[in-house]
Amino acid sequence: MMTTMLWNRVVRRTLRSLLLVASLVAGLVAVVTIEGAGSTAGTGPVERSFDAAASGPIVAGASTPSGDGYWVAYADGTVAPAGDAEWYGDASDLPLNGPIQGMAATPSGKGYWLVAFDGGVFSYGDAAFHGSMGGSPLNAPIFSIAPTPTGAGYWLVAFDGGIFAFGDAAFHGSMGGTPLNAPINGILATPQVDGYLMVASDGGVFSFAPPTEQPAFFGSLGGSGVNDVVGLAPTPTNGGYWILRSNGVVVEFGDAEDHGQRRARNGSRAIGIFANPSESGFRVIFSDGTSVGFGKAPGGRAQPEPAPDPDPEPDPQPAPAPTPSPTSPPTTPGPLPFPVGEGLYPPSGEVDYSIVRDDDTPGRFPVCKPIEYVTDFSSAPAGAREALDDVLAELTAAGGYDFRFVGEVNADFREWRQNAQVGDAFRPLLFASKTGSEHSFGGAVGQGGATARWSPSSGWVLVSGGAVMKADVDYARFGSSIRAVILHEILHALGLNHVGSTSEIMYPSLTALDRMGPGDTWGAHALGTGSPCIDLPEGHRWADVG
Ligand SMILES: [Zn+2]
Repeated sequence: MMTTMLWNRVVRRTLRSLLLVASLVAGLVAVVTIEGAGSTAGTGPVERSFDAAASGPIVAGASTPSGDGYWVAYADGTVAPAGDAEWYGDASDLPLNGPIQGMAATPSGKGYWLVAFDGGVFSYGDAAFHGSMGGSPLNAPIFSIAPTPTGAGYWLVAFDGGIFAFGDAAFHGSMGGTPLNAPINGILATPQVDGYLMVASDGGVFSFAPPTEQPAFFGSLGGSGVNDVVGLAPTPTNGGYWILRSNGVVVEFGDAEDHGQRRARNGSRAIGIFANPSESGFRVIFSDGTSVGFGKAPGGRAQPEPAPDPDPEPDPQPAPAPTPSPTSPPTTPGPLPFPVGEGLYPPSGEVDYSIVRDDDTPGRFPVCKPIEYVTDFSSAPAGAREALDDVLAELTAAGGYDFRFVGEVNADFREWRQNAQVGDAFRPLLFASKTGSEHSFGGAVGQGGATARWSPSSGWVLVSGGAVMKADVDYARFGSSIRAVILHEILHALGLNHVGSTSEIMYPSLTALDRMGPGDTWGAHALGTGSPCIDLPEGHRWADVG
């Protein structure tokens, strides 16, 4: 009996993994996931490289009515159940027009909906399809779905606060067309007043109800300076709610009790909070697939465990072994090659940025001297050149970079970055815009990264790299622009990693943002002239092009 159950689980898990990989190979997945930055592991940290994670992260979840189980949804549509949650199917084998962003369970817990960035709705089990925004023009991508208490309808909410009501869901107003300080990140039905609540990433709460009812509002974090709110959950009496931040912090309002919290760990972030419907308590789901119950809700971990991010590109060619010398790279991380102490990092803990590290050793470009770059924009969409110039100006303002354009090339992006060094010279950064047939994006819309070399005097120095942006994508359809992708990928090339805050351009998916957030700006500053000057490794120079 045990063996059979285990076997079934393994088979089902394997099947879903195969479907996931198959859909990636077919290039059918999400066009709006930007990609993973990452760094190559391995012995001898000689070269940092690119790593496109195309399946996307865990983006949403839902709790069962008992509170004893939950589902997590991946950006590519994969759904994984845990505890008493049953699997009713998923969208991992469908050709999606945008990545999955939201999930909600039916009141019975015997079904669920998925919603994609483009407004497409997918229903499973006893979840009924009542309509979608797929194929309709949107001012901003859809981010979340909330069923009505009966389950016979749902609301879809967009980043800009736009609301779309289906089935028995009633429209009582929205924030669409109203300037918001931060994008909307969550929506929740308020059964006692037949309305709904929205929460923005800055903690602002917006409550809507029929004209005869008092909207359910018990306070907000708006104005408190946070920028990482990801959701809210009601108390059993509907007399209050908990607000969740991506770092795992939970804040109580109204009659919500303090049941504790768990900080997000190891680079993961909290992505959703789900109330126990009958007794005070809630469950928090994290982006690594773990979940913790508080109050009456038990804890647990998703089964199957999250599949590792598939890498649609073959691993880069191994770099040549470093020449042995008395000053070869340390095997354990040594002192940071630039100070990370007072005056460099932001004074507030609310700013979210992360520097790419390889064996805990950050690297930077030699920013006190010109950083040479070439472009390959023969396939670029209109406005891409202007967007690049604008991005470089924004980066220069933040980090003091001195970018020098040295030529237009016609290059294969992979070949360029795999041969970053030519003799004693380093190839300039390559900023390219390619179509899906010219470059393998693996379901993402861009890739960016850098190559590092060890310098006895400067530590790890970024010496080459680049960014490639997909040319044949209608970014406006997703409320974004190629400027956002250019900025995101070039920041990877300069040394920044992903962060969990949707208020930063280094969030791994496209949002309405197309400029640096406060954390991005600090990161660009820290990697730029906010730190001491370094130089290219001794005896090296930029390679001639053209
Ligand atoms: Zn990225």
